[in-house]
Amino acid sequence: MNRFFIDPQQIKGDKVEFPADIAHQIRHVLRLREGDRVAVLDNSGSVFDVAIILNADTNEVAGNIISREMATTEPLTRIALCFGMTNRDKVELILQKGTEVGVSDFFPFVSSRTLVQSTNLTKKKVARWEAIIREAAEQSGRGRLPELHQPARFEDCLAEVGNQFGLALIAWEESATEGHSLYEVLDDEDRGAIALFVGPEGGFSEAEIELARLSRCKTVSLGARILRMETAAILFPALVLFALGE
Ligand code: SAH
Repeated sequence: MNRFFIDPQQIKGDKVEFPADIAHQIRHVLRLREGDRVAVLDNSGSVFDVAIILNADTNEVAGNIISREMATTEPLTRIALCFGMTNRDKVELILQKGTEVGVSDFFPFVSSRTLVQSTNLTKKKVARWEAIIREAAEQSGRGRLPELHQPARFEDCLAEVGNQFGLALIAWEESATEGHSLYEVLDDEDRGAIALFVGPEGGFSEAEIELARLSRCKTVSLGARILRMETAAILFPALVLFALGE
């Protein structure tokens, strides 16, 4: 079943009015016919079962709402993925795969060793990255669109997620000796909202790990092998959700 996120304002009573880009996709890319069903998501957690209505005169595409349910695909735990700003391809991979895995918030950060040192993002890049998240959310059947936050300095990112998330974990390849396995740090903790930090290609500096600890962030190992940052960024949320039984 094809899934589309739309602006809730485009749902009027039992009708859906599709915006031009989705109308184009329905007509010309997916070549759906009158009466074909699609799933429409309003980003509030609802999924609508919708029958397509094609208007031959105006080229507009609308839909009839057949039923409405709550999406069952959203994790119970809100997971934020905070990752070092890196090149475009890696960021895009992290956003796409993170969305599939179940991340709800992306916080790119700039730290002493990140490839990218600027916290500025062009409007064009934001739009492209939001489109990638949206496509991944539609493809994977998410009930809500993950949010892409403004890039921030590492210390500001720590403070920001400290306010919003009950638990913060930082993946540190040198923490194996401390014996912090995921199961240990997840035990009896606030499971409602967890922030995860993954460092850049060059890793975190000692000073950054110290700062994270002072911000009540716990270091965790992802195993004895050193993973590339993008691998760690995809695995970390998946492992946490798995460990929580989700
Ligand atoms: N430059 C470092 C590796 C950095 S890997 C080195 O060669 O030693 C990039 C990021 O992935 C790290 O900052 C960390 O957050 C995460 N990471 C990779 N492997 C990990 C592991 N085994 N345990 C915990 N975190 C890991």
